[in-house]
Amino acid sequence: MRRVPVYVSEEDRYFTDKYQFQPKNGYTALFEKMLAHDNIAVTLGCNALERLKIDDGGVFFDGEKIAYPVIFTGQADELLSYRFGKLPYRSLRFDFEEKTYPFQPAAVVNYTVSEDYTRISEFSRFTVEKPQSEKSVVVYEYPLEYETGKNMIAYYPVVNEENLKLYEKYKSCLEKHKNFFLLGRLGNYKYINMDAAVENALALADKIIGEFDCK
Ligand SMILES: Cc1cc2nc3c(=O)[nH]c(=O)nc-3n(C[C@H](O)[C@H](O)[C@H](O)COP(=O)(O)OP(=O)(O)OC[C@H]3O[C@@H](n4cnc5c(N)ncnc54)[C@H](O)[C@@H]3O)c2cc1C
Repeated sequence: MRRVPVYVSEEDRYFTDKYQFQPKNGYTALFEKMLAHDNIAVTLGCNALERLKIDDGGVFFDGEKIAYPVIFTGQADELLSYRFGKLPYRSLRFDFEEKTYPFQPAAVVNYTVSEDYTRISEFSRFTVEKPQSEKSVVVYEYPLEYETGKNMIAYYPVVNEENLKLYEKYKSCLEKHKNFFLLGRLGNYKYINMDAAVENALALADKIIGEFDCK
């Protein structure tokens, strides 16, 4: 209830921002264009922790101590081998099902009372186009506690006083390294939406450009 806003109005959208759009050609095209820049190399399917190590002696990449800036968007506790204990996260299970359109009255319906799932999203309703077929794919979301070593994704930090205290221990340990920066929902142990994630990333980029020779 703390995470999902409650409105009593005719507004059927989740957010109340004045301007709400999706990228003209979708997110894939947007990211493909950004990543095509000559200065950007992307490596997928690689656990950063296999290449990035941090200890009191500094930040190491592929075994070599580095002085250039590193931005880490993963879990701070995992990076430091859980030396102060595990930070709790929430995970999710997504069950996709094929239904007949229209399956539900809105793109996303939240379930907050007796069901095991917390929401159902119906993708055909995400854009203004009318679906071409009667088939409609929906996804049920089930909340799960995140457990390490079980091939799960940590989607949400569990933000409370106790967990923030633990996070601060990791943060202060990592922030001793002036070329190392935590960022994002996992890195900052904060529940944020995409707009805040982008805003924070741009602010950190400005800071790094100001402090380092980034030519
Ligand atoms: C189910 C769900 C629905 C959401 N719906 C909305 C919505 O409607 N609107 C909205 O604005 N926001 C929504 N959000 C929130 C949005 O997804 C986040 O705000 C945004 O993704 C945060 O960006 P980020 O860069 O902090 O984290 P992420 O997008 O999680 O990026 C972190 C990246 O780091 C990578 N990573 C982590 N550890 C390692 C490692 N060890 N090695 C290599 N890579 C690693 C991860 O794979 C990931 O790609 C939703 C989130 C969830 C979970």
